[in-house]
Amino acid sequence: MRIFKDNQREIRVADSAGFCFGVRRAVEGLLSLVEENGDGDVFTYGPIIHNETVTGDFEKKGVRLVSEEEPLPVPGHGKKSFMAIRSHGITRDAKKKIEDAGFLISDLTCPFVSKIQTIVSEYSKKDYHIVITGDGHHPEVIGIKGWADPKSVSVVSCEEDISKIDLPKNTKLCVVSQTTFREDLFKKLVEMLIQKGYDTYAQNTICSATSLRQSEAGELSEWADVMLVIGGKNSSNSAKLFDICRERCERSFFLQGADDLKVSELHSIRCIGITAGASTPDKIIEEVFKKCQTT
Ligand code: SF4
Repeated sequence: MRIFKDNQREIRVADSAGFCFGVRRAVEGLLSLVEENGDGDVFTYGPIIHNETVTGDFEKKGVRLVSEEEPLPVPGHGKKSFMAIRSHGITRDAKKKIEDAGFLISDLTCPFVSKIQTIVSEYSKKDYHIVITGDGHHPEVIGIKGWADPKSVSVVSCEEDISKIDLPKNTKLCVVSQTTFREDLFKKLVEMLIQKGYDTYAQNTICSATSLRQSEAGELSEWADVMLVIGGKNSSNSAKLFDICRERCERSFFLQGADDLKVSELHSIRCIGITAGASTPDKIIEEVFKKCQTT
């Protein structure tokens, strides 16, 4: 834990604040792609991460964003065209569509997510019905689902969803999870499927980076008089982090960067905790940390 201490206050920054392994890998991978292919066109399929400072910086370097809902642009004009896939991953069909259109793919899918896609693809080929525990609207889950047979895949997020599963009793199930799903709930839903009599193969694919970040934020916010959570406004993991902190520290604030920090909020405050979502760059955390020291 990074700590600043003087006569007036103590500031603690959570070790887990900021980029996780998969996000750092995606951002650094895109940066290398831009630097090594100066004369080629570089696109990202959806925003590379949910942080407008980072996506804005890439835009200034010439990286163009392709929305998943819109038709693909036409690559080429005599230059190589690269399409970077973000850490959440995409469906098999989307990947094929990008390749068929003539783009060179730079696959920056987090290896933990790729592993889930591989499990789903393999077990789907072995005629297992795939069950994904997670949020069916989240890009990661949409991507994972797209590696299964579309006729034999379900997404579940609660006990009620399990009660709705009504497959022939001899169906074999392969259960995987969104990387950010709650572990206790995953275990409970798997148990319910087993209780229903299905031959169930379950692989816990939850990533420890998220639970570690959340438990550290919880501990820090119990100590803090003011808790600062830094994240992009569209970042769901940052919003969840903020909820955890606010439950424990009434004076919790959500910031996108140091400019959002009001000096008046820190007046006479002794203990300040800082954490940040998985898509927050170190530079922004550092700016907030410095501002807290000088305010
Ligand atoms: S939270 Fe885990 S699975 Fe998701 S991008 Fe980060 S390291 Fe990968």
